[in-house]
Amino acid sequence: MNQETLQKLVENISMEYFDRSFKHKAAFNTRLKTTGGRYFLHSHELDFNPLVLEKFGLEVFIGVIKHELCHYHLHIAGRGHQHKDPEFKELLQKVNGLRFVPSLREKQKTAQLWKYQCLNCQLVFHRKRKFNTEKYVCSKCKGKLELKGRI
Ligand SMILES: [Zn+2]
Ligand SMILES: [Zn+2]
Repeated sequence: MNQETLQKLVENISMEYFDRSFKHKAAFNTRLKTTGGRYFLHSHELDFNPLVLEKFGLEVFIGVIKHELCHYHLHIAGRGHQHKDPEFKELLQKVNGLRFVPSLREKQKTAQLWKYQCLNCQLVFHRKRKFNTEKYVCSKCKGKLELKGRI
């Protein structure tokens, strides 16, 4: 995706989800490290991290665009545009924007865990390694375990 396509994409999302036009500049910024995007209060410009698109794909990237557009439109309308503001949270939810960008750090500090739950006593626990739930039982009540997914 080039600069021009990005500008068009942001303009289109703005019209489609916010029903308002985006009249400023949207640009890729390779200097952004861990953030997915940034909104500049003074120039009203938006910066986006190309790594988000590269690593997580278009769907996540669009979620970031919506997030930044929430800042943009609320700020321009003179309403609560910060993360803590109820108006921000509300709008973000309405347009289905991303609250947080998935981690962009190369080395993940925390390993992903598997979540298990006992079907009998409802005990929830996590393990680094996936195991066969047919072979193990709940340590507390010996009940049957169920894999609930990754966290
Ligand atoms: Zn934000
Ligand atoms: Zn149990």
